[in-house]
Amino acid sequence: MHGAGFRVVIVGGGIGGLATALTLARSRNSAIDLTLIDRQDRHSWKPMLHNFAAGTASENTNTVPFADLARRHGFTFLQGAPNGIDRRQRRLSMPDGTKIPYDLLVIALGGRSDPYGIPGVAAHGTFLDTLPDALAIRRIFENIRHGSGHQTIGIVGGGPTGVQMAGEFRRVIASMTAATCPHIMLIESGQRLLPSFPSSVSESAETRLRQLGITIHTNTRIDAVTPDGFQLSNGKILHADLRLWAAGVRANAATSVFECALNPTTGRILIDPILRTSDPAIHALGDCATMTVHPQAATAQVARQQGQYLGRAIPLIAAGGQPPPFVYRHQGSVVVFGKDDGWSTFGGVVSQGLKPRLLHDALYQRHRIEILGLRQGLSAFLDAGSNSP
Ligand SMILES: Cc1cc2nc3c(=O)[nH]c(=O)nc-3n(C[C@H](O)[C@H](O)[C@H](O)COP(=O)(O)OP(=O)(O)OC[C@H]3O[C@@H](n4cnc5c(N)ncnc54)[C@H](O)[C@@H]3O)c2cc1C
Repeated sequence: MHGAGFRVVIVGGGIGGLATALTLARSRNSAIDLTLIDRQDRHSWKPMLHNFAAGTASENTNTVPFADLARRHGFTFLQGAPNGIDRRQRRLSMPDGTKIPYDLLVIALGGRSDPYGIPGVAAHGTFLDTLPDALAIRRIFENIRHGSGHQTIGIVGGGPTGVQMAGEFRRVIASMTAATCPHIMLIESGQRLLPSFPSSVSESAETRLRQLGITIHTNTRIDAVTPDGFQLSNGKILHADLRLWAAGVRANAATSVFECALNPTTGRILIDPILRTSDPAIHALGDCATMTVHPQAATAQVARQQGQYLGRAIPLIAAGGQPPPFVYRHQGSVVVFGKDDGWSTFGGVVSQGLKPRLLHDALYQRHRIEILGLRQGLSAFLDAGSNSP
């Protein structure tokens, strides 16, 4: 896939960007010249960040160098973060001055938690949005675990990210004595945890988290984050030594580099039904984008389906055709933590326990096989599994 063909450049090799690249690469269309750019040197599966942060999965066995993926699938990989664009000439600029020409650009930069303009979040909160964030949190968590005294970890956001994070941290400290065991609290502004799940799942997950000793504050609004805790809208203060912010989703700040029309509140790039931005030569997908009609949640499932759709649509666009609109097919949702706790909703059926855990592991295994092939994907998955405590 190298030469003077139709130049496709994908920026961001996470779930959506990599799904686009691999679908396109598999089409073996010799008229397409594909380049993937990512600021990291390796692909990581973002839904595992809380496992890396808690130390319940190793980043060594669960990340894959982009250079290996590029060799295996036949595309060019460049490490870096574009810092400019010439949309008329269709060229990206890199910080070292390199220009990267494109005929079609795909932006798949992902998202980050949303501070919602609350004072102190950026200064005193800690985010779990990238692999380096996860590794930094693990170091702090290790210090808390091995330090003296009874410390408190406060997690803001009762969606799947916050719930899974609380559950994984708890799994690691389960064997500590009550005198030294850190206290974990989960804070949610809405009426219940996991608002995107049926209320029976919220109730069951909340009961389980409380059984594990996690304090849950629902209907609790934070007015400010301070160096040692959270100031609530009812005037109370909740003390926390580590203040993790896992609420909301807004676009990665770098989306503004590409000069496309953005949602003014979330910064997400506005896209039409064929995932095209305000510039027809630029498409966007996943957490950094939002459809103007039928917007979807910021999930791995949406990013993956959009990536696969675009990977199939690009050869048609390159040939001057118009692809059919993207149609999202919601297959279900799953949330798991620890070794045995999990909930899933598929086809209206709610399951709890082992089935969601197996489903969750199978989804990750499918991803590994897609990117590494059957043999290597399976053995990497088994290695990664044997690595977790
Ligand atoms: C802890 C956690 C748990 C989650 N659990 C679930 C779950 O159970 N189920 C679910 O559906 N979703 C889950 N999510 C959400 C899910 O991970 C995202 O919706 C999904 O990863 C979005 O895919 P994406 O391709 O848009 O972005 P990402 O997967 O985030 O990929 C973005 C890529 O862009 C690269 N990049 C960023 N900035 C630049 C730049 N300036 N230049 C070049 N490259 C750049 C990054 O390195 C990354 O490779 C979870 C998220 C978190 C944080």
